[in-house]
Amino acid sequence: MGIEKLIRKELLSFGGYSAAASPEVLEGKIEVAAKDMIKIDANENPYGCSPRVNKALAKYPQFNIYPDDGQEKLRGLIAGYAGADIKHIVCGNGSNQLIDLLIRLLVNPGDEVINCTPTFGIYSFSTKLCNGVLVDVPRDDDFNIKIGKVKAAITPKTKLIFVTNPNNPTGNLTPEKDIVELLETGVPVVLDEAYYEFSRQTVMPLTGKYENLIVLRTFSKWAGLAGLRVGYGIFPEAIADFILRIKIPYNVNVAAQVAVAESLKDKDYLLASVQKLVDERQRLNAQLQKISWLTVYPSQSNFIFCRVRNVDAQDLHKQLQMKGILVRYFDQPRIKDCIRFSVGKPEHTDALIKTLRAIGG
Ligand SMILES: *Cc1c(COP(=O)(O)O)cnc(C)c1O
Repeated sequence: MGIEKLIRKELLSFGGYSAAASPEVLEGKIEVAAKDMIKIDANENPYGCSPRVNKALAKYPQFNIYPDDGQEKLRGLIAGYAGADIKHIVCGNGSNQLIDLLIRLLVNPGDEVINCTPTFGIYSFSTKLCNGVLVDVPRDDDFNIKIGKVKAAITPKTKLIFVTNPNNPTGNLTPEKDIVELLETGVPVVLDEAYYEFSRQTVMPLTGKYENLIVLRTFSKWAGLAGLRVGYGIFPEAIADFILRIKIPYNVNVAAQVAVAESLKDKDYLLASVQKLVDERQRLNAQLQKISWLTVYPSQSNFIFCRVRNVDAQDLHKQLQMKGILVRYFDQPRIKDCIRFSVGKPEHTDALIKTLRAIGG
């Protein structure tokens, strides 16, 4: 007998999450050294974190002591930043962990989760891990959510509706009136605002009105802290309470907690980096538009999604990778011919455009 006989049957076909390949893994396999790779595949901040974070971590005296499990100071700081009461806030090891905890809290085997595809992969990942039933409601050709279709998909077993706003990987926003229509159904709606600082659109003001609204945010993108893993959610009070109870103790480490405190002291610096990226998004968009074999989708985020014609998108991804330009390819229905480019520094845009021209004309 193999030990795999003990593995839950329904997980035997579980494919896992296909994360972007790290530069250190690619080193030696492609033409460019890790330090020279242009990493525009995971929507990370090319300007890095606040220099205050590096300084504070270098002299932090107590890495031997566990963090505060209740995250009181951290949650208090975030309450100030997000404009919510601390009792609604819980922090996670990345907002991914909060997605996972929320699904684990609400979804019994057989319960349904509505997913507006194509979208971020973690909702489906954690739903499957919990033996939930994923109900995919495809977006329209411009990747807008079909609200009527979502409402029609709701059953007594529906526990959650996920709305990524702006959507990843497509970059577009869902209008607030559509979100309100979903909230009016009474089903818990998760607004994943991972890119809020880039889009400046939020449903935070609605949290006071709708008990079924959950907002998720992260420090990974705007604050350049993807490597330290810290995100937060604004939950109805009862849900926040239970998420705090079911989370693994000390889920947000000391370094991440220090980093958030320093980032919030340096908000102006970080928001200036965000502005640089928003400006560069516009320039990248204009440059990509000039490439005849790309269809460029408008984005309110820190990445741009493109449909690729006349070159195979997967092959384009490989060719760019060989030249040290890492971009995101999705082997998923409806977007097998698409590529997502994170917005980088101006020199990254220039190198990308030059290489795209060299490959496809
Ligand atoms: C990047 C991203 C997150 C953030 O994940 P972290 O775990 O906080 O790094 C969440 N949702 C979406 C849609 C994202 O693109």
